[in-house]
Amino acid sequence: MGTPNHGRAGHRAARGRGAAPSADARDAFLFEAPRAPVLLPPWSLRADAFEGACTQCGECVDACPTHVLKLAARAVEVDFADGECTFCGACVAACPEPAFDVAAHAASAPPWNVVARVDETCLARLGVACQSCGEACEAHAIRFRPRAGSVPEPRVDATLCTGCGACVRVCPASAIEVRPRSAEGVRA
Ligand code: SF4
Ligand code: SF4
Ligand code: SF4
Repeated sequence: MGTPNHGRAGHRAARGRGAAPSADARDAFLFEAPRAPVLLPPWSLRADAFEGACTQCGECVDACPTHVLKLAARAVEVDFADGECTFCGACVAACPEPAFDVAAHAASAPPWNVVARVDETCLARLGVACQSCGEACEAHAIRFRPRAGSVPEPRVDATLCTGCGACVRVCPASAIEVRPRSAEGVRA
C-alpha cells in the first residue's frame, strides 16, 4: 500500500501562503475552507457511503490499467492527469469492501453521472485555434461551433459525454474538468 496521494485538489488545498499560521488559525482555515468537488470512481456509492466503506487499501488504484485512481484524504478519487477511464470495471472487481454498486456494474448501468466542462481559459475561446479535445473524444461529444471573426469554440454535448476524461490531459490550457452533473457526488 502506497502513501496517500491527495491529488491536484488536495495539493491546491494544502498550498499555504506566507508565514505558517497558528494552530487556531489553521483550524479556522480548515473549518471555513470549502472542499473542492471531487470525482469519485465509476460505479462508486454516493460520497458518504463510499467514504464510509473505503478503507483506502489501494487495491482499486493498483488495478486500474490507466492509472486514473488516486488515494485521497478520505477515500479514492479520479484524476485524469495521466489517462482516461475505459470503464473496464477493474476497480469494482478489485475492491474487497462494499464501496461500489456491484449490481449496477454487472447490469452495465451507467457508471456515473458526470460531464466534461470547458472553462474560460480554453485557447479557442480566447481566439487561438485549437481542437485537441475534440480530436481526443471518441464519443464525438465535443463539437466546434463556428464564430464570426474568430476560431471555432468547443461545446460539449452532455447527452454524448461519457465522462471518460480523454479530453482532459490533451488540453494545453488545462481548461477541461469532468465533474458531477448534479449535487450528487459533490462534497460541498
Ligand atoms: S473502470 Fe477501469 S479504467 Fe475506469 S477507473 Fe475503474 S479500473 Fe480504472
Ligand atoms: S479497493 Fe475499495 S476499499 Fe480499497 S481503496 Fe479502492 S475503493 Fe477503497
Ligand atoms: S469526457 Fe470523454 S466523452 Fe466527455 S467530452 Fe471528454 S473525451 Fe468526450
